[in-house]
Parts: sequence; C-alpha cells; structure tokens
Amino acid sequence: EFGDKVDVKSNDEFKVLANSFNSMSVKLNEVELQRKEFVGNVSHELKTPLSSIKLLSESLLLQDEVEEDVYREFLMDINNEVDRLNRIVTELLALVDMDKKQLVLDYQPAYLNYLIEKIIEQLKPLADQKHIRLNFFEDDSIQINIDKGKIKQALINIVHNAIKYTRDGGKVDIRVYREKDFAIVSIKDTGVGISEDNLQYIFDRFYRADKARSRNTGGTGLGLSISKQIVNLHHGTISVRSKLDEGTEFYISLPIV
Ligand code: ADP
Repeated sequence: EFGDKVDVKSNDEFKVLANSFNSMSVKLNEVELQRKEFVGNVSHELKTPLSSIKLLSESLLLQDEVEEDVYREFLMDINNEVDRLNRIVTELLALVDMDKKQLVLDYQPAYLNYLIEKIIEQLKPLADQKHIRLNFFEDDSIQINIDKGKIKQALINIVHNAIKYTRDGGKVDIRVYREKDFAIVSIKDTGVGISEDNLQYIFDRFYRADKARSRNTGGTGLGLSISKQIVNLHHGTISVRSKLDEGTEFYISLPIV
C-alpha cells in the first residue's frame, strides 16, 4: 500500500502540503488498483483459451483411435483458440505501446475520405458475407494531420464492430464532415444495440456487453479501448449513442490543425 495518511494540525502551509500528499497517495492507490485489476483481467482472458486448448488436445491424446473427421474438428477448434490468443496478445501489445510516455505519433497530412475508402474496401468482403450494406456519404474531402496507421486502426475497429454486431441484411452508414475546426466521422449501424447499463463501460479494457456474442465473433473486448486511446492521443474525442435492438452510432471527432 502507498503511504499512510499524513495528518498535520499545525500551520496552514503544512496543511496544504499534507493535503496534496494525501491526494497523491489516493491517486497512486487508484493506479495500483487499476494495474492489479488489469493484470487479473489479462490472466483470465489468456487462461480461458489456454484451458480449452489443453482440454481439446488432452482428449485427443487420451483416445486410442480417433476418426479422422473428429481429429480435424478438434484441431480446428484448437487452431481457433490459438488465433484468439494471438489476437489478445497483439492487441495488448498495441495498448502497452500506446501507454508509453515517450510515444511519438507519426503525424502526416492525410485525406480522411481516402483513408475511409480504404477501410471500406478492406471490410467489404465481411459485410458482403452478411449481406450488410456499407454506405459512405462524404461531404467535401478533408485533409488532416494524423498518424495514418493509428487512425486507420481506430476506425477499422469501430466499422468492424458495426458489421459484427449487425444482423444479416442490415446496414452501416459512414459519414465524414467538417464541423468548425473538427473532422467528424460518424459510423451508424442498424445492429443489436447496447443497453444503457452497458453503454458507459464499452470503452473499458476487456469489457464486453454480451460475452457470448463477442466471443463468437472473435472479440477480445480490447478494440474500443484501443480506438479511444488512439483518438485521445490525437486530442480528439469519441462518443456513442445506442438503442437496444435498433442500432448504434459512434462519433469520432478529430481536430483539423
Ligand atoms: P469486442 O472485441 O468484444 O468487439 P470492443 O472493445 O470492440 O470489443 O467492444 C466492446 C463491446 O461493446 C462489445 O463486446 C460489444 O458488446 C459492444 N459493442 C461495440 N460496438 C458495438 C456495436 N456497433 N453494436 C453493438 N454493440 C457494440
């Protein structure tokens, strides 16, 4: 535990000092608590696929004769779990990377519209699979100074979610427009939506409103926290509105300077 409470009754300057020490130690305790919670979450998230892999491989090993198709099925399951572990570790590394104090963004002038077109191109096959229409409405073309790779990742996470959490035949509308000194990207889906209770937590690391659905779609619960961190590093904001069973809309606002 960090520092005991400092109690000073004497003169005023001392009191101010003591108070600032006390609030510092409250902060440190909070950080320490968050760190512990994070490590606990990471361990749990890694443990789950590991346990499955162990169970699957062990049950194959324990059987004398395994039919080929059963064998293949088990191996496919193991393979999926390994993919999952891989995704978690990759996303964790991305998060840790951005936590570094000395992180420097690779700012470059970029056309936001072009970046979004690229993202749509990349995710279109996934949308097509689910017969989801991906529409892009663009106003004028907006040039902006950003770390292209990072902003692309932030937006991909959100558009990917919009497709993941929308049922077959739904639609995702992406808009880009200028509002004063900000570029706004809005991503609106006609998906499953997020309940009011869950909405406040969705940017938290590992938080998933619907664990089963998220797991089935390969989710790790890290995507949105990564997106948020990237947007914040660019001094932008990210917000969300949602209605259960109707859909969700994310707004990303980035300063144009
Ligand atoms: P995941 O890897 O689980 O998708 P994210 O951090 O990207 O993790 O999202 C956190 C949670 O927020 C998701 O598990 C899901 O419950 C909810 N969510 C995110 N985007 C949407 C969306 N467009 N529609 C409905 N729910 C969403």
